[in-house]
Amino acid sequence: MKRRIFLKSLALMPLTGTMMELNKLNKLTDSFNSAGPMPVLFIGHGSPMNAIEENEFSNEWKKIGTELPKPKAILCISAHWETKGTFVTAMQNPPTIHDFGGFPQELFDVQYPAPGSPELAQDVKNLGEKPQIDLDQKWGLDHGCWSILKHMYPKADTPIIQMSLDYYQSPKSHYSLAKELSALRNKGVLIIGSGNIVHNLGRLDWGRLNEIGYGFDWAIEANETMKKLILANDYPKLINYTAQGRAFDYAIPSAEHYLPLLYILGLKGENEKISFFNDKLVGGSLSMTSLKVDKQ
Ligand code: ZN
Repeated sequence: MKRRIFLKSLALMPLTGTMMELNKLNKLTDSFNSAGPMPVLFIGHGSPMNAIEENEFSNEWKKIGTELPKPKAILCISAHWETKGTFVTAMQNPPTIHDFGGFPQELFDVQYPAPGSPELAQDVKNLGEKPQIDLDQKWGLDHGCWSILKHMYPKADTPIIQMSLDYYQSPKSHYSLAKELSALRNKGVLIIGSGNIVHNLGRLDWGRLNEIGYGFDWAIEANETMKKLILANDYPKLINYTAQGRAFDYAIPSAEHYLPLLYILGLKGENEKISFFNDKLVGGSLSMTSLKVDKQ
């Protein structure tokens, strides 16, 4: 009798933090099992023209696509989707969004018909507590994601969901939200943050956009300082980027292209290393610098 009462009261107890985490993980579908954590990428996407150009940046994206373990699915956090609240695309077939103007028809003709994954979207929603993550049925894949993925995975056969940036959240909470997503890495999900760590279109020298290596002094300084802080694990300064002086102020006139970096830093495990690629400036005020987080 006593035992029965004890069991009954146990059943009524709220789940502990650990049990809740386990519960969440169990909700991730079995089809997303994989051996070790997938690497994580921050990719500087630059001009939408990179989607249809063969250049050293797009060639590097191609190479990475062949080198990484084949992902079961991709979660892409794009600078080009800002919302009130955090959303993940949950449709079966996300449309290709051409969210730009003044480019050749060839770029508007690009379609990237990768499937979505309503199942993964639901799993991501279950992982997010603060802030909460909601499902979206209206967006799709914007050029922050497809311009890169078209080169990395030209067959468009890997399921992809996109996650938005909530413009009401602080940089710190973006960084913290990333940590809640880390369980996905063990399920074979490749997480990509797509933005540009130095991104000032107002000061861009459009005529020199194709001149690789051309950067203004403040852009070079910001790019180099950010890399140093990243390698030194000095994340508080990177999170508090608005207090780092003139070079950062010019490099990050608005948050959206920088914030995907904070997700990638938040996803880095203690014993993992960061390597850089496409570490070049273009047009004076745009840095293509990209990061890979991987095991030592
Ligand atoms: Zn962009």
